[in-house]
Parts: sequence; structure tokens; C-alpha cells
Amino acid sequence: MQMLVLNPSFIVTMDRECRIIKDGFIGIEEGKIVYVSKEKPQEYEEIIRLPKRVLLPGFINTHTHVAMTILRGLKDDVNLQRWLMEYILPVEKLLKPKDVYYGALYGIAEMIKSGTTTFMDMYYHEIEVAKAAADAKIRSVLTYGLADVFFNTLPEEEFKKAEKFKDDLSALVSSRGLDDFLFFAYGPHSPYGCTKELLQIVREAADRDNFRIHIHLSETKSEVENSVRTSNMTPIEYLESVGFLKSDVMAAHVVWPTDGDIEILKHRGVHVLHNPTSNLKLASGVAPVPKFLEKGINVALATDGPASNNRLDMWKEISLAALIHKGISRDPEVISARTALQMATINGAYALGLERKIGSLEVGKYADFVVVNLERALESVPFHDVYSMIVYALDSRYIDSVWINGELMYSQENVLKTIDVQKLREIVNDIR
Ligand SMILES: [Zn+2]
Repeated sequence: MQMLVLNPSFIVTMDRECRIIKDGFIGIEEGKIVYVSKEKPQEYEEIIRLPKRVLLPGFINTHTHVAMTILRGLKDDVNLQRWLMEYILPVEKLLKPKDVYYGALYGIAEMIKSGTTTFMDMYYHEIEVAKAAADAKIRSVLTYGLADVFFNTLPEEEFKKAEKFKDDLSALVSSRGLDDFLFFAYGPHSPYGCTKELLQIVREAADRDNFRIHIHLSETKSEVENSVRTSNMTPIEYLESVGFLKSDVMAAHVVWPTDGDIEILKHRGVHVLHNPTSNLKLASGVAPVPKFLEKGINVALATDGPASNNRLDMWKEISLAALIHKGISRDPEVISARTALQMATINGAYALGLERKIGSLEVGKYADFVVVNLERALESVPFHDVYSMIVYALDSRYIDSVWINGELMYSQENVLKTIDVQKLREIVNDIR
């Protein structure tokens, strides 16, 4: 047996029972988890002892535009409307494919270093993001951002961009043998960025070929007000009226739903992708996550793009998600530390439709995980509860190593396995 076994102080499984295995053993073979137990396995190739270490599932960043590292800091301290229309879109129109590649690779370096092992992206020149993900060997769901309203294109023409991307991605996946790493989904930007015709074309294609749909939804109060003004419906009612909403829809933000909207989301099984930092920074508001959870709507976590965050660190989002809703509701019980961590792991896997492959440390899933070093953190003493310590006391600085598909991708000593950050830093700095 070629099994590599890790033996940390704690395995935080995030499985259905949320088991925490103290001084347990986790075995990896051919990229997958093949053994998880309190007992030492009988046969193995090697055991790596990890005293004072916690093993967590890798984080799943369910909504980003990772190449926007190159636009980080371009404009801060304005609202979404001005930020997007006056500053971001005009510059994005000038971006060259290779800018997107290097920007994405840089963002991926940041994500791996801070514990993210899978991300979902939406952008233009998305095949460049796919190439960066392929080169870095990180898992990803990739969506080409379609917006016939923004680009003044015909719906059928705009849709061809997604179809071309799908073909290019499929060629990349087969040429590099990356079936387990890169996944396709549709990415109509938003109800206000797309015509009804385009949304319907996407819906039909998703039904026909069984792909999921990634969309921005009810992000700002003005989006909802404009929608009500023009159609007499909220954006969620509007999507419902055109038959768009189903359980394959992954909706980013959902900051301004009405109670009726929440019923629709629940009824259709829509997944919500919560981006607390980005929503705060762009002054969009705070999504009513406790209400979603109360209704049984699946809520996953995300950073959004690095130009509206301005980081790609999921640990920060976990901590913020656990805090902000307490303050808003003045109820300390609304989102526990454990729930916040679920949102960043197993809930993300459900949102992306990858719950059988990732999101928890269970036999049969990919060996994507993070090793946290308690010894390096002064804050890890005294020890009471592992969720409390991770969410409220520690942060991504205490990550010792990050593993994807059973491979060591990042370690404190030799940094990133697949990305030459020093070289990349200069390239990204020179993009103007
Ligand atoms: Zn976004």
C-alpha cells in the first residue's frame, strides 16, 4: 500500500456529524483520502507526525474575479455603481489576455497561501484564468462573464463567448488531464447586465447540458429599486418570472431580498454566495444570512474580486461572517464559529455541486486540506474549543501547509510549489 498518513493533533472533518478526531490518522493515496480514523492504520508507506497541528478541509472561495489583482487599489471608497461603471469596466475593456493570465496566477498564489483549494471565478478572457488554474494545479469552477447589456451585443452573439469558452476549456482539460481540477459553469453577469433573451438562452443551455449557473443577484439597494421601477418586480421575482431560478443557480451577494424573495430562493433551492467584506467595502449592505440559514437555504462564503475586497483570504471572510451578523441582529447565537467554518468548506462544496468530491475530510474525497500550526500562535493558549480558536483567535498567518489532491502546494519553508511568486510579482507590477 502506497498510503501516506498524516497524524495531526486534531482532524476537523466538517463531515455530516462535524466530527473532530483528536490525535487521529488521515491516509492519502492517488490524490484522495482513503483513511480517516482515531486508530493507526495497519499498513502504510509513511506517517508524518504533526503535533500541535490542526487539519481542516481546504477553503472553497465560491465567488471571485481572481484576475482583478491587477486592478487592486485602482479605486476604493466609492459605491458599487460608480466603482464598476466609472473605474473598473473602462479599464477591463483594455485588458489583454496575458494580463488576465498573470493577474489570475497572482491571485491564485494568494488564495493557496491563505488556505483556499477550490475557487469559482467569473471574468472575461476566462480561458486565461483556466490556464492559470491549470498551471497552478488548483481546483476551480470557471464561468465566462456574459453581459449583453454592458457590451451592447446581441444575446446570441454574447452567448457564443460562453460556448467558445466551454470548448476551449474542454480542450485544455483533456490536453492536460485535469478532469478533476477544472469545471465549467455558465456566468451571466446579473439581471441588470443581461437581457431577458440572454438569460433564457443560458437557462435552456444549462438544462440541456446539465451545467450550473453563476450570477450576481440583488447586490445593492439601487439594483432592486431599478428593477422594481422598470419591471415592477424585484430582481429575484424577475428571474423567477422568466423561469431562471432552479437548484443549479449559484447567486452571489443577495444583500437586498424581500421576505417573498427569500421564499422563492428557498422554494427553488438556489445557493447563496455570501461576500461580507466586499459588501461592506462597497457599502452595499449586509446580506440577511441568518434568515437564509433559518429557512434552510445553503449559504457559502466568498471573497469577491480582489479589487473590491482587497484580499483573497477566506479566513478573513470566515471571521467576519461569524461576527457581523451578531452585531446586526444583536443576537450572539445567529452564526456560530462552526457554522461560519461550514460556510467556507462543505456549504461551498454543495453550492458548486461538488459535495461528493470536496468540502470535508472523508474517505473518497480529494485530499484538499490545510494544516494549521498552533505552536506558532500565541493565541492558541489555553485550549478549549477548536472551532472557537480557528474562527475567533487565529488567522491565515498560522497556516503551515496547504495540500491539493494530496500534493503539498504551500509550506512555510519552500513557499508555493507551482508558482514562482518572485518573478510573478514583477510581471504583475508592470501591468499598466
Ligand atoms: Zn462579483
